[in-house]
Amino acid sequence: MRRTFSGAFAFDMTPSLPRRPRWRSLALLALCLAPLLWPLQHLAERYYRSELVSQNRQTLDLYVANLLGTLHRYETLPQILGDLPALRATLASPDPQTVDHANRLLKNISEQTGAEVMYLLDPSGNTLAASNWEKKDSFVGRNFAFRPYYSDAIAGRLGRFFGMGTTSSKRGYFFAAAVHEGQRVVGALVVKVDLDHTESLWGKTPEQLLLTDQHGVVILTSRPEWRFRATRPLTEEEHQAIVSIQPYPTQDPQPLDLDEQAWLMQTHPIAETGWNASILAPRALIDRPVRTVLAIGGATLLVLMLLLGLMMQRRRNYLDRIAFEAKARRELEIRVSERTSDLEALNSRLKQEVLEREQAQQELVRVQDEVVQAGKLSVLGTMSASISHELNQPLAAIRSYAENAEVLLDHQRTDDARGNLKLIGELTGRMASIIAHLRAFARRDRHALESVALQPALDDALALLAKRRRAMAVELIRDLPDAPLWVQAGETRLRQVLSNLLANALDALTEKANPRCLWINAEHTDNGVELLIRDNGPGFTRESLARAREPFFTTKTRTQGLGLGLAICDTLMRALGGELLLANHPQGGALLTVRLRSAPPGVNLQPPEDPSA
Ligand code: ADP
Repeated sequence: MRRTFSGAFAFDMTPSLPRRPRWRSLALLALCLAPLLWPLQHLAERYYRSELVSQNRQTLDLYVANLLGTLHRYETLPQILGDLPALRATLASPDPQTVDHANRLLKNISEQTGAEVMYLLDPSGNTLAASNWEKKDSFVGRNFAFRPYYSDAIAGRLGRFFGMGTTSSKRGYFFAAAVHEGQRVVGALVVKVDLDHTESLWGKTPEQLLLTDQHGVVILTSRPEWRFRATRPLTEEEHQAIVSIQPYPTQDPQPLDLDEQAWLMQTHPIAETGWNASILAPRALIDRPVRTVLAIGGATLLVLMLLLGLMMQRRRNYLDRIAFEAKARRELEIRVSERTSDLEALNSRLKQEVLEREQAQQELVRVQDEVVQAGKLSVLGTMSASISHELNQPLAAIRSYAENAEVLLDHQRTDDARGNLKLIGELTGRMASIIAHLRAFARRDRHALESVALQPALDDALALLAKRRRAMAVELIRDLPDAPLWVQAGETRLRQVLSNLLANALDALTEKANPRCLWINAEHTDNGVELLIRDNGPGFTRESLARAREPFFTTKTRTQGLGLGLAICDTLMRALGGELLLANHPQGGALLTVRLRSAPPGVNLQPPEDPSA
């Protein structure tokens, strides 16, 4: 029945529920979240594109304004210079003096205004004077009638033309105006503005400049390899025009194939010149920050995803645990209820058994009682004969005291006689006790047990036999502790036992020659109190040792002994919960051991015996 629940109710706490692999959940989550990156990319691209566009528009506007500003500075110069008398004089009479004067004047003005070259053409397009007259690549003497600005100027319009200098190989913008003499055109003045430096102004930025003329040919650019390349297919007329007016170093501009995917192009048309200024921003300028944004967004999504995954995982674990605990609880409850019903069945079986045992016990007690009672009656039957024996000694003492009292009264010793009478009274009380005890012995009820001090009981027993002992000169050797030895007994029954044993000892010493000794000692043992009564008489014979407890066994003459003393003592000792042991001492003589149970000092276990009972 003593089963531990730990073994019976131990569960395997490892959840055994099937689990979906974590990577699959995460991949699923990633698939769901990935489309969120697309709008993010779209938004980032739009934002960075608009930022770039607005920034580049400003740059382009600034560049165009700067370019136009440069051109405007020189736009009116040919007309104004055409009115200078020195130049008119040169046209009128181009002699060395006037030409030299004109050369110096043009050089002077050119230096002051910053124009690259200024030169004076006669009506046929020949250069009469030029600001670079003294340079190696001087225009003087060269004919520019093939240039459109010449024909425009001669026709009375402001000649404007971009072209590469055929002499200087420098790009420039040409303004030309007619020089009038009255209504007549006598020549033309041309101002060439250097445009090379406007290209170098662009600087080294990732964005590239692209300035195309009316033919779509690149004339100014921040990328030298794009220079003089055609951004669109040229028509036949345009080809012919290029051949005739020679604006570029080549007569057949090669096409410029720009990868439109790689560049983001913004164009600003310059109506005044028929040009288009474009700024080309590498797409990488947008792609890079967009990629960064995407990376950050992706990382954020990933973190969110992981957090979500973690939360899902924890939630799953939590649900698993709850389910598992619920299952374990259910199993526990089932087992507990099973075990409870087992225990209940066992309990009722035990109750039944206890009931049966109690009944058997009662039956046993009843039978035992009957047996004891029958035994007692048989003992009593035999004991009736011993009453005289039990009462004989006090009676003999009473007689002796009475006879003695008589003698004392004769001698007027009333006090001593009163002492004897008192002793007689005590002895009759003792006899009454013995008779009551014998009556009680025969009765069915149990005698009450109490705490009795051993020494006083022993003293009483010795007192009864004191006279006889003195007469026999028996030496008493006592070895008893001073402190009372409390034993569990009935006072009368204990005295009865002790008196019997001491009387037997004196009987045994009767035949013995001196010295006659009687040893009495007592001590506490593990099981209670042990009293030893030893004499140096003949001791038990082999037969008497075996049969001394039998009623009527005696080795004495009929007048001396009835053979009931030890039989009663043995019965009484067992009734007191003790025992009586008979033996012979190794040095001769009988050794009787009285074993009694210890009792608490002076406390009655039950109400004391009623001597009258
Ligand atoms: P009774 O004294 O009337 O003979 P008991 O029952 O007291 O009856 O004793 C039975 C017998 O035990 C005695 O007759 C005697 O032979 C023997 N006996 C008892 N006490 C002693 C003793 N102290 N020494 C020797 N023999 C003893």
